[in-house]
Amino acid sequence: MYALAIHGGAGAAPRDRSNRGYEAQFLEGLASALDAGEQVLRRDGSALDAVQAAVMALEDDPLFNAGRGAVLGSDGTAELDAAIMSGTDLRAGAVTGLHHIRNPIALARCVLERSPHVFLAGAGAEQFAAEQGFPRVANDYFITTHRSQQLQALQRSADPAASARLDDPPLGTVGAVARDSHGALAAATSTGGMAGKHPGRVGDSPVIGAGTYADNRSCAVSTTGHGEWFLRTVQAYDLAARMAYGGQTLDRAAQAAIERLTALNASGGLIAVDVSGQIVMQFNTPAMFRACVRRGHAATAAIY
Ligand code: ASP
Repeated sequence: MYALAIHGGAGAAPRDRSNRGYEAQFLEGLASALDAGEQVLRRDGSALDAVQAAVMALEDDPLFNAGRGAVLGSDGTAELDAAIMSGTDLRAGAVTGLHHIRNPIALARCVLERSPHVFLAGAGAEQFAAEQGFPRVANDYFITTHRSQQLQALQRSADPAASARLDDPPLGTVGAVARDSHGALAAATSTGGMAGKHPGRVGDSPVIGAGTYADNRSCAVSTTGHGEWFLRTVQAYDLAARMAYGGQTLDRAAQAAIERLTALNASGGLIAVDVSGQIVMQFNTPAMFRACVRRGHAATAAIY
């Protein structure tokens, strides 16, 4: 038995919901990323390889806020974060503040496999990437017309601090959680963060325990939404702890976690899977791009 779930970000509904072509593009992107991950699981591959494959596909898809197509910071550059974690042995790799690495999740995986450390930042992370033979891409590679226009609109808006925007995260951060046929769990998350963010801002996504967590004793989790809140609530670990220490089921734990976020006025969502292969995909925003599949069941994808 295997199970895989992915998300492409939680947030405000796409502006023009009548634009079916627009929605179809996102659903197609989700379907092909889910397929990339499922192919690994179908061959009895590892949960770790599956979440990496799914997230890399989403990083390469310019529609999503990760890799190419990432949102831009206030200085007009894409600054990327990613993390990956194995639930079997709690090995983890995370990177933040990248400007030149095409697939941040691949570098996070390399940190997990080949570094004595868990979390590398900025210039040091890119130095590690060079040492490990990762090619360097220009920051322009990540920048799309849509994201440049989004940043311009944001910077023209009356409130340059854009706190309102922070309460209304744009869709697009990506993540995956998996349970493989050997019973192992893994989680991965990748993002450009928040549009218009201050250079050096680190969100929840690459922080182990906040945006990404996996432990075979409880669950694997990837979050999306207003990262500052997910950092403050240590959200991914909070979900795992509700199960490990509180004895809650995955369903109950996810529901309680979302209720708490709502009570705090924090917006976002999460996906998670437990050792039995049960999947939850919950959010308190109008939309969360998401898709999942379990062995022997048809894949499903949804936005609202
Ligand atoms: N959580 C991400 C961050 O704060 C953004 C998102 O999920 O939309 O960087």
